Amino acid sequence: MLTRRVLNLKPFGVMEILAKAREMERRGEQIIHLEIGEPDFPTPQAVVEAGIRAMCSGDTHYTEAQGLYELREKIAGIYNYADVGVENVIITGGVSQALNYIISSLVESGREAIIFEPTYPCYSAMIEFYSGRVIRLGLKEDFSPDLDALQEAISSRTSMILINTPNNPTGSYLSLSELRAITEIAQDYGCYVVSDEIYSKLVYDRDRAPSILETGYEKSIVLDGFSKAYAMTGWRLGYLIAPEEIAKIVTRLQQNFFISPSSFAQRAALVAIELREELKEIKKAFNRRRQIVCREVKNTPELEMVEPKGAFYAFPRYSFSMSSVELCSYLLKRAKVALTPGVGFGRAGEGHIRLSYAASEEDLILAFERLREAFSEL
Ligand code: PLP
Repeated sequence: MLTRRVLNLKPFGVMEILAKAREMERRGEQIIHLEIGEPDFPTPQAVVEAGIRAMCSGDTHYTEAQGLYELREKIAGIYNYADVGVENVIITGGVSQALNYIISSLVESGREAIIFEPTYPCYSAMIEFYSGRVIRLGLKEDFSPDLDALQEAISSRTSMILINTPNNPTGSYLSLSELRAITEIAQDYGCYVVSDEIYSKLVYDRDRAPSILETGYEKSIVLDGFSKAYAMTGWRLGYLIAPEEIAKIVTRLQQNFFISPSSFAQRAALVAIELREELKEIKKAFNRRRQIVCREVKNTPELEMVEPKGAFYAFPRYSFSMSSVELCSYLLKRAKVALTPGVGFGRAGEGHIRLSYAASEEDLILAFERLREAFSEL
């Protein structure tokens, strides 16, 4: 008999839309994919070559459970302003696995985790999987966190506040003062603030988004990785930075459940972390697309949105009185544009669609032409 926790696990919504779109493509339809949450660029050549070199030279075995010392050292160096040492860094199979380790370490029956929605749907799925209670706070209209609501929701049962900055799906990121305010509230209850910063390098009005580690709060945990900024989603490599007591527990989890992250992916990551020009080019291309999306949304009277500043998502609100699932299903059939329903990111996302601009400039322009035509028939 299957356990209740696996039976309760819902499918990951984005993947379902992708499956429907792929089915239409098999029937010969031309779909524009704006639902996919991964960069459409290839992994930079220097990184691929480093991976191949590692494999060819026999680097195809387990590494230490925490990950390669050199890689952890390099990652610690990025956060030198926050007194991060090698002992605080654990390399994981993507941020997904880091989330799994952290949530399973901090959440159990009788404990609560606070999240701000709309946000990445796997958070609530994982918290519930580990029998925790999810406390969902809606972001404000401008996608900033409601700190009064946080103050009211937090209690001695709260084990963590889980934030995502820059945010999937809104594209907004938290300012340092907002991060500080969150940690001040957390401090009164001694709970952890877990910050998923996977899009930290993909912000377009500064070098990188502020990190929770800049607040100096001692119970801060950062999750980040190589998937998004370096177009390395398939390499499955991420990391977490945590206080030593948590890092030690996560090491034990990794030893028992995964042994170690991929050896050659870590060797490739040693090269990725040093890339400057390639990252600049990726950001430049995303920024151009972001500007196209902002312009096109302005030219579409049925849509309005808060300008996204980070990640590669836009999250416009639409003016029709239909659910986001109905609208996205209509748009896939009628406009042949695949988008993600806002409600997939929590109830607070209803009335929105998420558009990923990990697509070419031509496709983005064509998608908006098709969307406007489909909207005009509603
Ligand atoms: N966190 C957020 C907010 C994401 O959007 C995603 C992927 O879309 C992930 C984590 C997963 O990251 P990884 O590929 O490192 O597992």
